[in-house]
Amino acid sequence: MPLIESANPADVVTPLQPLFPKVLKAAYMVAPDRQKEITDVMARHNLRIQLHENTGEFTMEAVASPFYPRLSVGLGSLERVWAAAFGYIVLFEISAEQHRKRRAGKPVGKASHIALVEATTLLNWAFVAAHEGERLPWPDAPSPSHPFPSADLMRSVETNFIAMVGWMLLHEIGHFACGHCDPVDSSEPAVPVEAHRREHEADHWAHAQMTAVADPMICRGNICSIPFALGVIAGINHRATDSHPSLANRLKKYMTDFASPLAASQPDVRATVNMTAVVPLQALIALGGTFPANLAPFPDLNGYLEWWERTME
Ligand SMILES: [Zn+2]
Repeated sequence: MPLIESANPADVVTPLQPLFPKVLKAAYMVAPDRQKEITDVMARHNLRIQLHENTGEFTMEAVASPFYPRLSVGLGSLERVWAAAFGYIVLFEISAEQHRKRRAGKPVGKASHIALVEATTLLNWAFVAAHEGERLPWPDAPSPSHPFPSADLMRSVETNFIAMVGWMLLHEIGHFACGHCDPVDSSEPAVPVEAHRREHEADHWAHAQMTAVADPMICRGNICSIPFALGVIAGINHRATDSHPSLANRLKKYMTDFASPLAASQPDVRATVNMTAVVPLQALIALGGTFPANLAPFPDLNGYLEWWERTME
């Protein structure tokens, strides 16, 4: 039976067109060891992936329709995820470079990167689109159809984009796996405390699939891409809402329950994941008009998140 379906993806006009085959398989690609479990959940709920041309809010959701249960994925949202992946990777590379210089006792200097202008353009575009709730025309910037001259950078962006999409799909599949979409469960009043509990539970389910990967390269990439995925779905809406906990809260849980234990025996992974965790927040600060001349290191993530919550509220 077809477990993944989309509405004529070949007909949809988007610069992400070349990545569609991978987008549709993203949940399997990031959790190759859990394909059977994921397939079972999808089959049990007769779940399909629906790509559609949304124009409004960020759409990546589990739809518990008795006629067409699905993972609804808005193309405008996917485009923003790719743009954020590009911007985040560039900010991450700047952070990593500055981290190396600090450790070597060299002067850090001003933030620089061959793609900093493109990264800023794409991040701005993604956050304006999120703020306006519109699917905006692609800006004058790289895309999967118009790659940046650096092939290494484009490969890195693509890998992270697929990992971010994979996590998002697994989070939505997690809502089904955890029974949140069962008829009885979903008819309960959606009080914030219960809604937040479900979000954390779906996060936990997705984290568990993506961190139980034997291939060390995929596992390491996943550990570092999850904060990017959380960051982009939080977008400009970084505070807690009735339906979702705050980004800071979700990141803290991820770091405590998954990233820290996994990184305990691998110091280089710890440094990398700490940097990826703060990149989405640095991007928000940068877009707030205070693009830092150099990106300060944040070895203490909790301290940073608390500072960030105070500053941004
Ligand atoms: Zn959710």
